[in-house]
Amino acid sequence: MPASSNRVLNNYIAGAWVPAAAASGMLDVTNPSSGEVIARVPLSGRADLDAAVSAARSALPEWRAVSTIARARKLFLLRERLSVRSEDLARAVTIEMGKTIGDARAEVARMIEMVEAACAIPMTMQGRVLEDVSRNIDAEMIRQPVGVCAAIAPFNFPAMVPFWFLPFAIACGNTFVLKPSEQVPLTQQIAFEELHAIDLPAGVVNLLNGGREVVEGILEHPGIDAVSFVGSAQVAKLVYEGAARTGKRVQALGGAKNHMVVMPDAVIEPTVSGIIGSAFGAAGQRCMAGSVVVTVGDAHQQLLGPLTAAASALKVGDGLDESSELGPVISCDARDRIAGYVERAVADGARLVLDGRGVVGDGIDPRGAYLGPTILDDVKPGTEIVEQEVFGPVLVIVRAESLDQAIEIVNSSRFGNGTSIFTESGASVRRYRHEIEAGMIGVNIGVAAPVAFFPFSGWKDSFLGDLHAHGTDGVDFFTRKKTVTSRYFSSGQGSGAYFVERQEALVPIV
Ligand code: NAD
Repeated sequence: MPASSNRVLNNYIAGAWVPAAAASGMLDVTNPSSGEVIARVPLSGRADLDAAVSAARSALPEWRAVSTIARARKLFLLRERLSVRSEDLARAVTIEMGKTIGDARAEVARMIEMVEAACAIPMTMQGRVLEDVSRNIDAEMIRQPVGVCAAIAPFNFPAMVPFWFLPFAIACGNTFVLKPSEQVPLTQQIAFEELHAIDLPAGVVNLLNGGREVVEGILEHPGIDAVSFVGSAQVAKLVYEGAARTGKRVQALGGAKNHMVVMPDAVIEPTVSGIIGSAFGAAGQRCMAGSVVVTVGDAHQQLLGPLTAAASALKVGDGLDESSELGPVISCDARDRIAGYVERAVADGARLVLDGRGVVGDGIDPRGAYLGPTILDDVKPGTEIVEQEVFGPVLVIVRAESLDQAIEIVNSSRFGNGTSIFTESGASVRRYRHEIEAGMIGVNIGVAAPVAFFPFSGWKDSFLGDLHAHGTDGVDFFTRKKTVTSRYFSSGQGSGAYFVERQEALVPIV
């Protein structure tokens, strides 16, 4: 990818790359490891949105009429093309978002898995039929596309999150408008180059760069039927309310504060590596990042030393350096905001056992947005650092006396995205998964990551809506169900009177 401050990004509308026609301004896209400006992104305006929606609406009849297997074949082709470009995509993720290249490769692999899951659409989009719902009468449920679907993405997964929606939406026969995060718009430029290459009818997929104005336009636009959102809890609420106000189908995945419970019988070494990966992977900027460890009883004493040692050994540096284990956060503003949380946590009585503020070293560009791994112990439930999403490489430790108390601490959070328990006890796991109020649970797994073939989402303030992302829920979200009841008079199989059979008696209802 050419790194040039002169590069101005285009939108992709109606099958062509076009400059934003009604931009209210431009933002610099920076590489967080160096602060270098790598591109300029337009803040598209309402006229640009109108053009994208109008292209998507015009493409709808043609795309919907393409057979399901032919739509799936386009996705097979896309899968192959994305695989060939996977290293370009991963590098773009690292350069614009900061996560390590290994982590970016894993993200791109997950992005491609979403396409693979959507390739199964001739199976997953099937409806169902009940023959003889009444005598000689059949009932069937068929699925049809919803229409024009829009998705609004966050900065932390520039490759994967847009693909939680795009492949499923178009596989189901919808057309699509994507608004990536204005902080990380480059990765989707590559994805759309590949979407362009598979020769979809013009307007099936559209890429619109921009910020708040585009989001507000999407929520109000009469030409959009469904909205998928991923981002902070605060904006998720705005999106959910705004889309509901204009009668759109909506799923809004919000912020998180994920707890990891460590029981005294946990196997310490893999538990430590699970916690380290969860808390510090992507510099803590994953919606599934574990940011609170709840130790039960003796687990505290067993865990603290090895955990602090492993965290302090992490190599901080530019994500493109294969040896880096912790890259920068998204921006210097984010770094300063996170450092503020650490300062206030200390003022609230937390014990700072590892301080990553002001981290320096070989491979750390002083202009970059670096923050080293930070651990706070003896943190009191109810304090700001436990309740608010920090979204950085900051891990807090809270002590509990029992599993009951740990469950109470986890469930007291307003968020319920993901959580993990580390234990060898099946009984503890059984209780935990039964009682915990969260959408994704890991058992001896630090990050209960999204799996394309299963639904993914949180509960409580981490999610507004009912149908989760991808898996079978993705197909449910991107289709409307229609139930058809039918009979034929010339079949020679009887009158086909419309009866409900109840308690042995035939009760005519028409
Ligand atoms: P964000 O809410 O700031 O931005 C998300 C999107 O909303 C962006 O495209 C942005 O342009 C737009 N936006 C921002 N402010 C807006 C406003 N006032 N009005 C309308 N639109 C607005 O989120 P972010 O900082 O990009 O991403 C990090 C957040 O996303 C974290 O809270 C993280 O937990 C969350 N997240 C959640 C999941 C999940 O699955 N639940 C996954 C990834 C990220």
